[in-house]
Amino acid sequence: MKKYLLPPEGRFFKANLHCHSTVSDGRLSPEALRDAYRAHGYSVLAITDHEIMMDHSDLSTDDFLMINGYEAYVKENMDDGRYMRTCHLNFIARRPDLKEMVYVDPDYVKYSQKNGFRPEELPRVGELVKRRYNARSINRLMAEAVKAGYLVAYNHPSWSLETVQEYGFYEGMYAMEVYNHGTCVDAGFPGDDARDYDRMLHLGRKIYALANDDNHNKVPLDDPSSDSFGGFNMIKAEKLSYESIIQALERGDFYASQGPEILDLYVEDGKVHLTCGERVKQAFLKCDARSKRQGRSCHAGVVGEGYLTDVTFDLLEEDQYFRMEVWDENGRKAFTRAYFMEDLGI
Ligand SMILES: [Zn+2]
Ligand SMILES: [Zn+2]
Repeated sequence: MKKYLLPPEGRFFKANLHCHSTVSDGRLSPEALRDAYRAHGYSVLAITDHEIMMDHSDLSTDDFLMINGYEAYVKENMDDGRYMRTCHLNFIARRPDLKEMVYVDPDYVKYSQKNGFRPEELPRVGELVKRRYNARSINRLMAEAVKAGYLVAYNHPSWSLETVQEYGFYEGMYAMEVYNHGTCVDAGFPGDDARDYDRMLHLGRKIYALANDDNHNKVPLDDPSSDSFGGFNMIKAEKLSYESIIQALERGDFYASQGPEILDLYVEDGKVHLTCGERVKQAFLKCDARSKRQGRSCHAGVVGEGYLTDVTFDLLEEDQYFRMEVWDENGRKAFTRAYFMEDLGI
């Protein structure tokens, strides 16, 4: 029997869930961002300015949905004022009426002040606190965000200079970025952070994979080095409503991409089947079991003679989870999330 990994019903909505505007250090206004993403075929945009929660739902239209949220961070402060490692988290409001920030630190309110808020006046839950760069403090920040009604995503580990020795202790995220376009374009950080995702999966963390722009738009949108339109999520949902999109995110009904499309994904009789969009040259299965007996490694791939359309891989009893990537002729990738065998009943 077929078990669909992306629901057969509903439709895909293209989404950038990490974006900065003039509310913090971005160059484009929220309205200009809405117009630009809508004109590029997107249906969903979350403007996640640094440490300030703003309601942009007035910019939503019948064919475009604004999701509210903000980006929170915790820096490892050095004695001379520099900082080295840092942890950036995106808080996506599960309800459009959620306004309260969590675990507000007076050291991190620069952009709230820019927008006329005094720290003690910010809508928030809890007292003002001092965040510390350690797993305990970061996990408390995540736990309070989840309790307040946010989905918490973990952003750009390589740009943050974090390794599994840090993020391996973080608890409470529903997803992490496997691709962050802004840090790749601006700072040349690695093509993707999928290796960090694998490390989390090896630890047994059931989290999803996101690709986002993290755009600040310091160069014009039509400039080749623009940080917009390079990382997105295709969310399969019943309809374009706040509730429906959030539910799809919670269920993991989406994939992340730098360009290639995944049209269909299901398992049947111990095999996983993927149908991809145009110009895909390679496809890979990534998992954590290898079996000489069953003739498959922990990393299986196919390369198309021409372009691939349908690919199939065997799943093994020994697999705890698997995820897939498809690569187009320019090396751009699409990433499924990980699927854990015990959750699929196989
Ligand atoms: Zn960030
Ligand atoms: Zn950001």
